[in-house]
Amino acid sequence: MISALILDQDGTLYPSLSPLSSELRRRTKEWLQKALGVSSDAIDDLYSRLQAEHPHPYDGFKSVGLSPEEYLEQVFDRIDPAAYLSRDEHLRTLLGNIGCPKFVVTLSSLSYASKLQKALGIREILQETVSMIDLVPHHGKDAAYTSIRKRIQVPLENILVVGDNILLDIKPALAAGFPALLVGCPPPGYRGANIESIYELEDFLHRKSHHKQKKRTTYQW
Ligand SMILES: [Mg+2]
Repeated sequence: MISALILDQDGTLYPSLSPLSSELRRRTKEWLQKALGVSSDAIDDLYSRLQAEHPHPYDGFKSVGLSPEEYLEQVFDRIDPAAYLSRDEHLRTLLGNIGCPKFVVTLSSLSYASKLQKALGIREILQETVSMIDLVPHHGKDAAYTSIRKRIQVPLENILVVGDNILLDIKPALAAGFPALLVGCPPPGYRGANIESIYELEDFLHRKSHHKQKKRTTYQW
């Protein structure tokens, strides 16, 4: 039985193909270009290299002498998510129907997270948001998952981690013993649980609890 959800934010609570995702990428490249004095021809290569070499974006920025704090300030805090996202009644109903506490763990700043969740209309449905900037020293999501579990005192197998990034969201969850659910297209070789979009979350949870009940009945018989 799932008694709590830990959700990633960007690319999970709204589609990763949203214009907001493109704007985040564009601003990140613009910031890197200015801060490092890189030419516009070289920025795409640098961006791809940092992504390939450092699964955690904060580590990538640190490797070229930039701080994660500056990243939040120069990228997230300069974007108004309400200009790209509107109230999502489907998502509101879906999250409202799922009775357990729901947490968000995000790369972004808390002020951007608050604006984004208000734009989608889901702010009051979420229990708490944790920014990875506050997870010292390594900023890994596993630290946030574990600290949330300790606070709510729920067995880790009953906390489902949901995210769109295998390396940032799913692997740290599985390594720490949490069940995890990938949102979006699974990469080749991925054998874990997967849904195409967040809108399938409620059905996934129903299927999971139904499956458990059937299994229990079989066992008792
Ligand atoms: Mg994400």
